[in-house]
Amino acid sequence: MELNVSVVPCKEYSLKEALSALETALAPFGGLSWVKSGMKIVIKANLVMFKSPSAAATTHPILVEALSKMLTSRGAQVIIGDSPGGLFTLPYVSRIYSATGMTAIEKANDGVVLNRNFDVGQANYPEAMLLKQFQYTKYLDEADAIIDFCKLKTHGMMAFSGACKNMFGAIPGTRKPEYHYHYPKHSDFADILVDLAEYFKPTLCIADAVYGMEGNGPTAGTPRYIGALLASVNPHALDLAGAHLMGLSAAEVPTLSAAVKRGLIPSSTQELCIYGELENFVVSDYKTVPARKVTQIRSHGKLLNKTIETLLNHRPVLKYPDRCVGCGECFRTCPAKAITMVDKKPIINKETCIRCFCCQEFCPVGALAVHRSVIARMLSK
Ligand code: SF4
Ligand code: SF4
Repeated sequence: MELNVSVVPCKEYSLKEALSALETALAPFGGLSWVKSGMKIVIKANLVMFKSPSAAATTHPILVEALSKMLTSRGAQVIIGDSPGGLFTLPYVSRIYSATGMTAIEKANDGVVLNRNFDVGQANYPEAMLLKQFQYTKYLDEADAIIDFCKLKTHGMMAFSGACKNMFGAIPGTRKPEYHYHYPKHSDFADILVDLAEYFKPTLCIADAVYGMEGNGPTAGTPRYIGALLASVNPHALDLAGAHLMGLSAAEVPTLSAAVKRGLIPSSTQELCIYGELENFVVSDYKTVPARKVTQIRSHGKLLNKTIETLLNHRPVLKYPDRCVGCGECFRTCPAKAITMVDKKPIINKETCIRCFCCQEFCPVGALAVHRSVIARMLSK
């Protein structure tokens, strides 16, 4: 069990700062000495949707460019890729490459290409806890090594998005809702995310925590300055340290709880081997979306009737109807068919909603948000 995590200052998104921070962050792991000339390395960034880098929803292009330069200077070929929600096709993903600043990296750097292989592969993974067979983005097979370059964010369903959640981008976009539908329980969904991270086993994980996202994450929250870069060879150890910066413990993050149960990490950052001053980067008033109490309530669900459970659980609401442009993306994304469009506004059926928060994640204007009842808020305190 590799438990080293480095946490270094990265004050701003400039190439000079990024190169220096990456050198320092990777030093405890031997830097990039494992990279040999001719290797193909996939940087699996978080490119969740059409968002500019300033929105803090995606891995910042300056950091991806700095890492790409370090890799190509060693003779490696870099492939930058992700499968966001939506179509896994060249026209759709090209627009995301452009919006997130990735196209410019390819243009400016020899040896760096954006993924244009949109084939889908079939994986068999008998050792998985839940995800024994799944379809995945086949370009990952081209990689001699995968670098998981995530963004630290809050997440409506899973409380936290970091290195482990980033590997859900290995599932082709249009197939993602099926997994939400088949694994509606947070703990089960966490297990499939851990299965994915363990299957693809990134050689290195890095987190963009210069600006994280707080509040209505993972796409419609607010950028929050943290000023750090994190690195580890263990995605779960990196996430444990990253969640700590937001004030979240392992018990409050389903993917971390799942990793702890499997013995992949300890339950406390105190048992990690940290290079750097983790506590210096903790943001004490980070606005999170805690999932822990909900999970506990659900696990005692037999004792509660459905009405009480519905009352206590988080659910998506059209919080900002004025922002809604009636695009129907939430309706199309909903795996449970719980949304009907009435007068170009979504109406959510509380009974059939499985609380996957895909609608909230993929609303392009942030009109949907996670709602917690007063009772749930009191219990979360
Ligand atoms: S309404 Fe939203 S949260 Fe509920 S099942 Fe549909 S997409 Fe998921
Ligand atoms: S995705 Fe957002 S903007 Fe589009 S219809 Fe749904 S709530 Fe409205």
